[in-house]
Amino acid sequence: MLSEVFVTEMTAAPVMCMYCGTVTVMAEEHLYMFPLSPGAVLRCGTCEEALMVFVRHEGRLRVGLPGVRWLDVAAPSGAQP
Ligand SMILES: [Zn+2]
Repeated sequence: MLSEVFVTEMTAAPVMCMYCGTVTVMAEEHLYMFPLSPGAVLRCGTCEEALMVFVRHEGRLRVGLPGVRWLDVAAPSGAQP
């Protein structure tokens, strides 16, 4: 689902939990309810709060970032600052 929303590879992207301040890479967080449901929840591996929520409905993908303080991704080549 990450690759459907973000143009750069996200599994190695550092992310900070806004609840506990832990910084880890996306691939180390816990993913729940995927692929057996229409959505997924990515939870912090330290405090278990929801970092990201993905819901697929009627051909659209809704993404919520309730627990992300910041997400660090490489800018696409050629992007301006
Ligand atoms: Zn946390």
